[in-house]
Amino acid sequence: MKQLHARYPFLQSAREAVEAMDVAIVEIVQTDETVVERAIERIETALDEGVVGEPHRRDRVELLSYPVARVIVSLVDEHALTRKYANAEARTAQERLEYDRTQSVELKSTQREQLTVETLLSEFDIEGAVRETPAGYAVDVGTYLDLAADKRGDEWRLVNRKLSDGEVTLESTELLVLIRQAVKQRIDAGLPLAVPDEIAAELDGAVRRVNEALADLDLMRDIDTVVPELFPPCMRALLDDVQKGEHLEHHSRFAIASFLTSIGMTTDEIVDLFQVNPGFGEEATRYQVDHIRGDTSPTEYSTPSCATMQSYGDCVNMDDLCETIAHPMAYYEAKLDDADEDELVDWREAQAGES
Ligand code: SF4
Repeated sequence: MKQLHARYPFLQSAREAVEAMDVAIVEIVQTDETVVERAIERIETALDEGVVGEPHRRDRVELLSYPVARVIVSLVDEHALTRKYANAEARTAQERLEYDRTQSVELKSTQREQLTVETLLSEFDIEGAVRETPAGYAVDVGTYLDLAADKRGDEWRLVNRKLSDGEVTLESTELLVLIRQAVKQRIDAGLPLAVPDEIAAELDGAVRRVNEALADLDLMRDIDTVVPELFPPCMRALLDDVQKGEHLEHHSRFAIASFLTSIGMTTDEIVDLFQVNPGFGEEATRYQVDHIRGDTSPTEYSTPSCATMQSYGDCVNMDDLCETIAHPMAYYEAKLDDADEDELVDWREAQAGES
């Protein structure tokens, strides 16, 4: 068994190594508590820290814990967990790859077999689309667009990249970020797996533990994050209107103000966010926001549901996610769950940075 497979269990060769061991998952979960324990740790650490933790000292345990973790994630079958888990596996792979690269530069040679960028490119069948240059890499624009599709941040937009002869120029660290996307897509693919009852019964306790960890996370999670680019389409449209100085009907003004209040914005912050509006009436907005918050009224009003938004004509630009939720807050929660936490820039922090 190669240590390489234990460190990078998503590789095709690692999968073949597991198959060559000729040991059924059901047998592992029935007999090897250490593997199951490390599989649970992979998932719990993914939820807590966004990575899957230190590898187990035994390569066999580390390698087998990966398919078992995938089975547990499938049994829990929560969209947020699957995304966080896939993200964490991919981030861990990127960190290990970066570490391996510094090791091979610093030590010139090492005992351990290492994964190279070239091997990874051919693993994902994109070796022909990426070329090493003196300054970093040049990536075929189609491949770039596929891999950067989920990346937020202006620096990833094609208009902001150097493009020549159908190739996008990247620094080597940026290429690693894109490779991480490819790893994530592979880990995500096929989840949730169909799990036979016999295996599911053995993993009952593991599933319970992961569900508890998820519930704790939900309790701890506060939607106190303001990322306008992740707002539901209806709220983005209303915010745009406010900022352009368009007149908003009372129900629309109420909808956007209650939404912003629900995601933890203070009256002052909402007034600041609205202030781009040339027709802005600060006193009236302040009064209205305070009223919605319950500061000047006995009732704290909550954000209208999608059904109410639709009945007032405030539901616009619906997208695929809208089809799966019934409340604008649920949309925003799902977007925050899916986002890579390192890439989230809170509007309030960005404002503080500018001032
Ligand atoms: S479906 Fe709901 S979240 Fe989506 S745009 Fe309409 S009101 Fe907003």
